[in-house]
Amino acid sequence: MSGLGSATALDGWKHVYSGKVRDLYVPEATEAGTAPAALLVVASDRVSAFDHVLEPGIHGKGELLTTLSRWWFERLPVPNHLVDDASGLPAVPASVAGRSMVVRSLDMFPIECVVRGYLSGSGWKEYQAMQSVCGVPLPSGLADGDRLPEPIYTPAYKAPLGEHDENITFEKTVELVGLEDATALRDLSLEVYARASAIAEARGVILADTKFEFGRDAATGAITLADEVLTSDSSRYWDASAYDSGERTASFDKQIVRDWLSANWDGTGVPPTLPHEIVEKTVLRYRELLERLTGE
Ligand code: ATP
Ligand code: MG
Repeated sequence: MSGLGSATALDGWKHVYSGKVRDLYVPEATEAGTAPAALLVVASDRVSAFDHVLEPGIHGKGELLTTLSRWWFERLPVPNHLVDDASGLPAVPASVAGRSMVVRSLDMFPIECVVRGYLSGSGWKEYQAMQSVCGVPLPSGLADGDRLPEPIYTPAYKAPLGEHDENITFEKTVELVGLEDATALRDLSLEVYARASAIAEARGVILADTKFEFGRDAATGAITLADEVLTSDSSRYWDASAYDSGERTASFDKQIVRDWLSANWDGTGVPPTLPHEIVEKTVLRYRELLERLTGE
């Protein structure tokens, strides 16, 4: 538990956890030590990069990302954590309705299920040094931004708050959760990525890579897609027409923030405050992605 002071008090709900970006609540009536009937996940406008929460927030971000998550959950071929029937649960306060989801509380797997369809970021760096990405060997001659011969699964260990997530091999995920679940997580991740990237491509958007989190539903035993899904926080999205004409920097994600921070901060101490124009640019890109994908 951390940051207990930073989240807003919400009628009927008790704050239990704050991650870098989201605040988690359980119904107020939940007794200590018992499993909550549900969780309320509230997305804030906080933005993080290189594992630091930056100032100021990106106004409207929580709502944009929540809207996008919901849109994707409806279209994906796997069970998800959204609660369909919220009767018996406290009402969701209007102040956070647009940026929150009532979800089943799952036993989360400590694995970030990353799928990469393109070479980018840390993957490109490793490829230049070793011709592999997270230990997965790749053909020679690929350039930054190139499409991979096929999407690859590159899991990471989900470190406790304050520590850095660590790339791990598939074999290590088998050690962590057993062969059956490790295989299911990999196969589900690749399946969801394939479906989502086809949907995005039909709308002129490339889903370069993304990260999923899954948990087990204690009631049904089903491995269930959780967390936020396919948002511009958890994914790299590129403009397909710009990409086709050779321009590989037109992204709809927080790359704008990462790029500014890389150019203006040496990584020590407290990160500098984001300038107004970087915040505005990021909001516009996030909004444009939502419009492109959902047509809204
Ligand atoms: P960051 O994502 O910034 O690296 P974080 O993952 O610790 O940090 P947030 O994403 O802000 O924090 O908070 C969301 C938290 O809720 C995560 O720890 C995530 O694993 C957890 N979570 C998401 N869905 C569920 C669920 N259905 N049941 C239980 N926990 C969930
Ligand atoms: Mg998270």
